[in-house]
Amino acid sequence: MTRADKSGRLSARPLERISHEQALALLINGETAELMERADQIRRQFHGRNAYFVHSLNLNPTNICENRCDLCAFWREDNDSDAYMVTLDQARQILHRAKDLGITELHIVGGVTAKLGME
Ligand code: SF4
Repeated sequence: MTRADKSGRLSARPLERISHEQALALLINGETAELMERADQIRRQFHGRNAYFVHSLNLNPTNICENRCDLCAFWREDNDSDAYMVTLDQARQILHRAKDLGITELHIVGGVTAKLGME
């Protein structure tokens, strides 16, 4: 059985599911490198050296953001010269083009602004 101790460290038998408590311990106390290693072990046990990818699109409707998080280099004031907001027609065009290119996964992430009208 795979175990995570109180520090979040995992034992070496990776194919069994971990419990919610073990997952929480790993999230809180575990090392990112250990989590990455575990994910890689599981991937290799299921798929050997093969890796699979999804063609995805990140649609960022706007970079105008009222939150102005310190860690973020993406946000702009609405009057900044490089601020943008994608219209619905533009979004449709982007999505149709993505579909034609075989994109099968869509992420929509962007700035937070009342100007989007999505409250
Ligand atoms: S775009 Fe996201 S991360 Fe950046 S300032 Fe806005 S809420 Fe924060």
